[in-house]
Amino acid sequence: MLRKKSLLAFREAKKYIAGGVNSPVRSFKYVNSNPVFFKKGDGCYLTDIDNNVYIDCVSSWGPLLFGYSDKDLINSINKCAVNATTFGAPTILENQMAKKIIELVPSIDMVRMVNSGTEATMSAIRLARGYTRKNMIMKFSGNYHGHGDSFLTKSGSGLMSLNLPNSLGVTKNIAEETLNAEYNNIQSVKNLIKAHRNKIAAVIIEPIAGNMGLVKSDISFLQQLRAVCSENKILLIFDEVMSGFRVAKGGAQEIYGVLPDITTLGKIIGGGLPVGAYGGKKEVMEYLAPNGPVYQAGTLSGNPLAMSAGLSILNKLNNKVYDKLEEISSEIEFGINKIIKKEKINAIIQRQGSMMTLFFTKLKEIKNYNDAQKCQTEKYSEFFKIMLDKGIYLPPSQFEAMFISTALNKNDINKLIDACNFAFKKIK
Ligand code: PMP
Repeated sequence: MLRKKSLLAFREAKKYIAGGVNSPVRSFKYVNSNPVFFKKGDGCYLTDIDNNVYIDCVSSWGPLLFGYSDKDLINSINKCAVNATTFGAPTILENQMAKKIIELVPSIDMVRMVNSGTEATMSAIRLARGYTRKNMIMKFSGNYHGHGDSFLTKSGSGLMSLNLPNSLGVTKNIAEETLNAEYNNIQSVKNLIKAHRNKIAAVIIEPIAGNMGLVKSDISFLQQLRAVCSENKILLIFDEVMSGFRVAKGGAQEIYGVLPDITTLGKIIGGGLPVGAYGGKKEVMEYLAPNGPVYQAGTLSGNPLAMSAGLSILNKLNNKVYDKLEEISSEIEFGINKIIKKEKINAIIQRQGSMMTLFFTKLKEIKNYNDAQKCQTEKYSEFFKIMLDKGIYLPPSQFEAMFISTALNKNDINKLIDACNFAFKKIK
């Protein structure tokens, strides 16, 4: 498959845009390749600027639950744009969006709209700090919560050691206020709480992680995490920017039956427009300005275009949608697993609903970041490139999840599985 125009466009982009892209993973650097420039999406089909067509398994990193060019979404956006793209003043659409989120997400009584997932998580920890009057936060290695300074940290050699920035520009002081525990390891959480008693404002977690590949929490781990946070007056934040409305109508918290104090959302609530949100218990949310002492604001927050786009998607969510996503995704999982066995490839699939990752590993399961780091990333890169040439667009990193939309039909699924068969034979 030739991608000459994409190559030229990337060469030009690198002259004017830092690294040639507006978000690093798009550069295909993590699969040692060059990015594809797209010009059109239709259902699950993507067309690049060289007129190659791909079956899409990324859904713009999650937002496009129903695939590209969803008619309801486009009509909503068009209808809204005629009136205004923004007022910077309240609209009824914001009330409708807030009510919809509260109806769907079990733990949310009150909500605030923002413009990205990063903004949601940054605001959520400020709120938690203000509410608890404590400074430290805890997160889990391998989880991603956007690019806020507090989240760009990694642990030192041991869990109890000080944390270090993992980006230049993040100060040591900020990094030291973020603790990193091990995913699915409650003892690591307890140890950190013991070492920093009465100092931790919040624990933030992806209850179903998509940022070290797809890794689920164990239910008992999540239940114990809830209990330990309550015992220590620590707010529990579920970052459901990816899992919200994707794995179930009410996100991971609906599946697990474990309720956080604050939830962060993004992606699907904007239907592909830039949106984020955070919400939780009324008592906590009332701490926000203008009524409360924690400041957070946004010129474009809750803007009508994004609200109408998101509402057009949220209003369509019902059990049938999730049944369909499950049917398509389980068929893909089944088909690939069959080839893994047949070709004796060292690989496993981890999946929750329409989010899944094919890990190239000898391990039977990936439970945390340590496990994920042992994967054969070069194998994934090879696999990715062959699949791309066969017209299958996968996430350009071993440590990202596939997001399947309802737009794939039987034929698409078969093409995907056939391409996989071909790719596995090549990389054996
Ligand atoms: N939280 C999670 C769990 C995410 O996956 C992401 C982005 N993929 C973010 C937060 C940040 O969202 P955004 O890219 O919209 O800032």
